[in-house]
Amino acid sequence: MTTFSERAAAILPGGVNSPVRAWNGVGGEPTPLASAHGSRVTDAEGREYVDLIGSWGPAILGHAHPTVVQAVQEAAAAGLSFGATATREVELAEEIRGRYAPAERVRLVSTGTEATMTAIRIARGATGRDVIVKFAGCYHGHSDSLLVAAGSGLATAGVPDSAGVTKGTAVDTLVLPYGDEQALTDAFAEHGQSIAAVITEAAPCNMGVVQPPRGFNRLISTLCRNEGAVMILDEVLTGFRAGPSGYWGVERDQDLAAGVEPWQPDLVTFGKVIGGGMPVAAVGGRQDLMEQLAPLGPVYQAGTLSGNPVAVAAGLATMRLLTEDVYARVAAAADRLAGGVSGILADAGITHAVGRAGTLFSIFWGLADAPVTFEHVSRQDTAQFGRFFHAMNAAGVYLPPSAYEAWFVSQAHSPADLDLVLDAVRAWAAAESARA
Ligand SMILES: *Cc1c(COP(=O)(O)O)cnc(C)c1O
Repeated sequence: MTTFSERAAAILPGGVNSPVRAWNGVGGEPTPLASAHGSRVTDAEGREYVDLIGSWGPAILGHAHPTVVQAVQEAAAAGLSFGATATREVELAEEIRGRYAPAERVRLVSTGTEATMTAIRIARGATGRDVIVKFAGCYHGHSDSLLVAAGSGLATAGVPDSAGVTKGTAVDTLVLPYGDEQALTDAFAEHGQSIAAVITEAAPCNMGVVQPPRGFNRLISTLCRNEGAVMILDEVLTGFRAGPSGYWGVERDQDLAAGVEPWQPDLVTFGKVIGGGMPVAAVGGRQDLMEQLAPLGPVYQAGTLSGNPVAVAAGLATMRLLTEDVYARVAAAADRLAGGVSGILADAGITHAVGRAGTLFSIFWGLADAPVTFEHVSRQDTAQFGRFFHAMNAAGVYLPPSAYEAWFVSQAHSPADLDLVLDAVRAWAAAESARA
């Protein structure tokens, strides 16, 4: 009898349609998932898990929220795709701008990859320059120029770069260590006149969760402004999840509290949460830059299914449900889980660090301090994470199958769900410390 994994691998390369879903980093074979409701996912064999993947970010309300599902059903019944602008596209874009002022104009696309790719094209079109600066360990989707020293699935697989990306493309991408102010300042001193854009995750969350050193995002913004480059803030993962105005909003609130004028990105990309589990992403930003886009300007970008009415219905319903109260619940769940796991590991003498950015967090295995650079992150004890992952899975907890990913909680994670997770961590930690 062939297993599901064998059958999947006989048709889908690696058995998956996106590499982060494979268990290559931890070993073993995943069972296919059949359904997802609230904080739980159920596999094809009927086993239920407390889910900490959350579709890699979108499921901030919990899976299949009834209001969102109803909005999708009604939208589907009214037509799957029009190919002409519909009211809800405007409403979703307004909803984004209402929460995120730097997004003065918004274009909807279908994936985060398209959003960052478009942002880069706008920056190059507007500046007439070629070079893009990115930071090692930051993931911005799989377009060629951004697949240099990216995190996420590439970190898990230990692939520094992707094959199939030309030298010509890689030459125009300058990779710097994250958080290194001197390296950034030097790069501008040396290449300032050729830098079109600096792209950065608002807080890196694809090499585990890294809190940006205070002032680093502001420095990027200042250097870009002084040198005529464009700051692209990638909030595909953090947007409307790290906080009500993304991770930018977290820093803005800190600045306002300190009586400091907040910094602003020029362009910003969204995805994940704004689609509520359906394919919606967006690029937004300064009006003059966004109006470089066709049909107003010379930068071409298009999409047959951009702003798809069913997908937009899911995104709009999700955004409208994202109240302060939801963020408070997500933050409380993150606090309890991050603090609880860390406390258990510390009591068991297991070396680890917690990375935290707004309501997002991850655990770094075998590191004594929360890392900032990808070089530091990659010193993790991934073998220990593999043992942890499988013990948790057996106990009914579905973690991302990689030590380089955030743990995604939602408003639907109840105290009982978190107890289940913490009990599983406690049992594993006792066995793990006995092992040493
Ligand atoms: C997920 C992600 C992307 C890519 O989005 P897709 O929808 O998977 O193409 C880009 N940037 C960041 C920061 C992400 O987390």
